[in-house]
Amino acid sequence: MRFCPRCGSKNIDWVLPQDWSKWECKVCGYIGAFIIEDSKIADEIKREYLKKQGKDKGQG
Ligand SMILES: [Zn+2]
Repeated sequence: MRFCPRCGSKNIDWVLPQDWSKWECKVCGYIGAFIIEDSKIADEIKREYLKKQGKDKGQG
């Protein structure tokens, strides 16, 4: 399983099908070669990301 390093989402895909070195996250717009393959780390990233998102709405 692969996860976005910025928001922890599973919703990532290759930018170009012929270029497997670059990933794009459909949730936060992250583009890069680095991805997370550990679901525990992805969970923590997701929590931190949602916490930051919540600040904008004043729910944090
Ligand atoms: Zn993301």
